[in-house]
Amino acid sequence: MGATAGMGSFAPISFWMDTNATNDRVAPTLAGSYEVDVAIVGAGYTGLSTALALRADGLSVALVERDVAGAGASGRNCGQVGADIGKSLQALRMQLGRERAREATAVLRAAISHLEEAIHTHGIDCSYQQTGNIFAGVHPRQTRFIERTARIAEELRLPVTVLSRNELRARGIPEAVVCGYQEHLGGALHPGRYARGLRRAALAAGALLFERSPVLSIEDGDPLILRTPHGRLRCGRCVLATNAYTPNLGWMRRMILPVAVSALVTEPLNDTQRARLGWEGREPIYTAHHVLENLRWTDDGRILVGTKRVRTGFGRAFAPADDPKTFRALERVLRTRFPELHDVPVVRRWTGPVALTPDFLPVFGRTGRARNVFYGGGYGGHGISMASYAGRIIADLIAGRDLGPARVLVDRHLPPLPPEPLRWLVGNTIISTLQRLDDRLDHAAQRERVR
Ligand SMILES: Cc1cc2nc3c(=O)[nH]c(=O)nc-3n(C[C@H](O)[C@H](O)[C@H](O)COP(=O)(O)OP(=O)(O)OC[C@H]3O[C@@H](n4cnc5c(N)ncnc54)[C@H](O)[C@@H]3O)c2cc1C
Repeated sequence: MGATAGMGSFAPISFWMDTNATNDRVAPTLAGSYEVDVAIVGAGYTGLSTALALRADGLSVALVERDVAGAGASGRNCGQVGADIGKSLQALRMQLGRERAREATAVLRAAISHLEEAIHTHGIDCSYQQTGNIFAGVHPRQTRFIERTARIAEELRLPVTVLSRNELRARGIPEAVVCGYQEHLGGALHPGRYARGLRRAALAAGALLFERSPVLSIEDGDPLILRTPHGRLRCGRCVLATNAYTPNLGWMRRMILPVAVSALVTEPLNDTQRARLGWEGREPIYTAHHVLENLRWTDDGRILVGTKRVRTGFGRAFAPADDPKTFRALERVLRTRFPELHDVPVVRRWTGPVALTPDFLPVFGRTGRARNVFYGGGYGGHGISMASYAGRIIADLIAGRDLGPARVLVDRHLPPLPPEPLRWLVGNTIISTLQRLDDRLDHAAQRERVR
């Protein structure tokens, strides 16, 4: 038996893209020469939302995608739309101070509303459930941290309700959650169907889309020239919507650290298993670990478990996608958080890249010799809403409009990431230390439950 036996089959993109049955045809590859106002590299949520926003401004745009729209993190994530911005709220307030932290959370609120509006306006059928999320502790010693975080959330105008253990039980939240709060913003969606919906909306708005067209180089200057294996695109401005893939394009190497994140799903629960589990409200859960756990129902009645372990590759290489240790850790999470589901098989597992920045906050801005290369990314594992709103921010930047609170995330001066091999060494030391602390907490939680 292989090291991942019993953990279902590995999906080259993800469970969401496999089950994303669609009649949409793959768009043509870029062949020959084209000219547009703005070229957008990458058709994930950032690229698609940018295409929509720029079309609304009347600009001609072309999306150039290496694979198919949603093939990156946008079609691989856990689908939890949360009021999270990549770091703890304590750390956010400490770094930015109260007023600027409030601006950052105002952007987050705007991003979630924008996503909900986009789903509504474009009629996107992505099973979005506006349940909010549960921020969860698995050991009683996390109670004070959760209460403190809830106070800061209120101060930063993120509405939350602290829930006692009894209140959690009364809501049917699994017993492994011993303390927590309810975030009232966001919920859960089907990431693949959401990406396809945005793709359709961008096409309907008149954006050109080229799929299976990797951008090999961007010739800096004014105009910019993008080259793919069979074509070239001339444009006055370009948007890097490539998030974790951006350093491999030769841009933002000192600002973006790609890390691999994985997830798995069970087969759909039967009636008995559902009854055993409870959790009728189906609020998605993310835990208060250093490296969080995503726990949620899918719209077709499966349980999804994600994150828990993150990995960096060396240099330009991504960390291996089908990593047995990572999937064993995820399966352990499934069995310890939901002991009622000991007999439910895992059927699918997958991995995708997220982008971290040196301070774990998203980055937006412009670069290039003529300052005509725009970018948005670095959302960590919390990018569904931010990437969906990225288009609004980038369109405002391009048009020279007032950015409002989003200015706090724009043209930031960050300490550069160190070069290799230091980057790999530092990255891995930090990650393994945090994961060891999480493991210690989990052991203590297990002992507490047995008692
Ligand atoms: C396993 C996992 C779980 C996650 N869970 C959550 C979650 O629950 N909640 C949440 O908010 N966020 C989550 N995230 C993060 C979220 O998915 C991302 O922040 C978001 O999707 C980023 O969107 P994007 O469009 O910027 O990047 P991507 O979706 O990665 O898009 C970049 C695109 O660029 C394309 N590309 C790359 N190089 C080239 C090139 N040379 N030429 C042309 N195209 C190129 C790629 O193919 C890709 O389609 C998760 C991510 C992962 C991987």
